[in-house]
Amino acid sequence: MAAIRTHPHTVVDELRSLLGAGQVLADPDELLVYECDGFPIAKGLPLAVVFPRSPEQVAGCVQLLARHGVPLVPRGTGTGLAGGAVAYGEGVIVCTSRMTRIESIDLPNRVAVVEAGVRNTALSDATVARSAAEGLPAPLYFSPDPSSQKASTIAGNAATCAGGITTLKHGVTTQHILGLEMVLADGSVLRTRTEGLLDGLGADLPALVCGSEGTLGIITRVWCRLTPKPQHFRTFYATYGSTFDACATVSDIIAAGIIPAAMEMMDGAMVKVVEDAFHYGFPADAQALLLVELDGVAETLDEELQRVLAIAQAHQARGIQQCADARRRAELWSARKRAFGAIGRLSRSYCTQDACIPRSKLPEAVAQIVEIGRQRGLQITNVFHAGDGNVHPIFLFDEDDPAQVQEVLRTAEEVLAYCISIGGTITGEHGVGVEKIHLMPKLFNEATIRTFQAIKATFDPRHLANEGKLIPSERLCIELLKPTALNTPGGAT
Ligand SMILES: Cc1cc2nc3c(=O)[nH]c(=O)nc-3n(C[C@H](O)[C@H](O)[C@H](O)COP(=O)(O)OP(=O)(O)OC[C@H]3O[C@@H](n4cnc5c(N)ncnc54)[C@H](O)[C@@H]3O)c2cc1C
Repeated sequence: MAAIRTHPHTVVDELRSLLGAGQVLADPDELLVYECDGFPIAKGLPLAVVFPRSPEQVAGCVQLLARHGVPLVPRGTGTGLAGGAVAYGEGVIVCTSRMTRIESIDLPNRVAVVEAGVRNTALSDATVARSAAEGLPAPLYFSPDPSSQKASTIAGNAATCAGGITTLKHGVTTQHILGLEMVLADGSVLRTRTEGLLDGLGADLPALVCGSEGTLGIITRVWCRLTPKPQHFRTFYATYGSTFDACATVSDIIAAGIIPAAMEMMDGAMVKVVEDAFHYGFPADAQALLLVELDGVAETLDEELQRVLAIAQAHQARGIQQCADARRRAELWSARKRAFGAIGRLSRSYCTQDACIPRSKLPEAVAQIVEIGRQRGLQITNVFHAGDGNVHPIFLFDEDDPAQVQEVLRTAEEVLAYCISIGGTITGEHGVGVEKIHLMPKLFNEATIRTFQAIKATFDPRHLANEGKLIPSERLCIELLKPTALNTPGGAT
């Protein structure tokens, strides 16, 4: 990374003159809010946080930072779960969350153009409303649906290639991004799409940028694919006496060649805490709950449902509840999406792990992950995208206890090593960030890592954009497993 030659105050003063004082935070108390994202273990104070209101302002800020050799960290609304939006040392956070303009919704061509900070649901809500106003028989929407969708931004979704509940059938974010505008770390502007150009030419740059976690530049505009919102559903939940049986149901449904829109699972502790918090009517003694939704052509759904129910029953499903109406369906999905919010009743802090494993290995793997936690004296609960084999063991701990923090990190390491050993990977959707960067060489060989580094250097030769995240680097290595450095303001933790 380039050495910073300028006094930090000069940089902050220049940012204030460029953007106005209301769009720059540099007071240490205000900066505390930005010391971490949804991964509470990695903390570091930025030099400043800036809130540009347009792509042009982003370019202006980035040019200024590049002139002074100041590193930058792109940030949306900070819901990320891998420490990707945290600045360490002298970095400035460039927060695109105030760029909330939906520039156009083109229903006939099924594309919307939005600024980076538009929230995921804001785009879908606006598109559904416009479809109704224009009399479309089936509304269009933006399909990626991370559980954080009410809060997270579309640029954040693209940068992490977010998945969601219906990823199983409808795909991850990259499959719904048609074009991107991005400010590179030298302030120049890359645009992969031009007016009137409906299909990409040349290399698929949006696909390269999706999932790059802010390491290649700052996304400022996104061309989003709009798709028809499914209209016909069969939704049910089943409870089980063991997570093993629930996971075996999932494996067998996929093995039978059926692709539901979603198959989501909660373990017993999670069912109980969600029920205690929100009262959806789930049985208190359930050891697992599987929520399944099929969507598609009305005429074929009932037959598919019967096949799925038969598989569930073969695995000792009990208390199968089919969804009678749209209200109950919405309630069930809200139960799933609010599950994370209910965890606060169990523990002061929690850390959501994210790994993918082959679906055929789900039953043993979920049991093994809980066992790893038990052996380390750490409580683990589970709510996850079972259909994708995307597990989310949630570690409950106290972030103010350094020993517990270290135990969480060690347990995470063991869980991820186990997932790799059974043919899995270290992230399904939350990304690598700072949390898992040291595990990248366990997944990829040297030539592949060198290619990631070469791509980074092509976009950002001075290594100013989100260095030390996702792509292993000798320039900045943030060690989380280092007890003495925990929670050091302004430094790597
Ligand atoms: C309760 C909860 C539920 C969640 N559920 C899901 C889920 O179901 N699926 C899922 O995939 N994730 C989930 N997440 C994780 C998180 O919401 C996603 O990763 C989301 O895409 C992050 O969006 P954000 O705007 O908050 O980005 P941030 O957290 O601000 O940033 C995330 C990463 O994207 C980069 N970034 C942000 N904005 C830009 C930009 N403009 N240009 C370039 N890079 C940028 C950052 O540098 C960082 O590396 C969940 C999180 C929470 C707290």
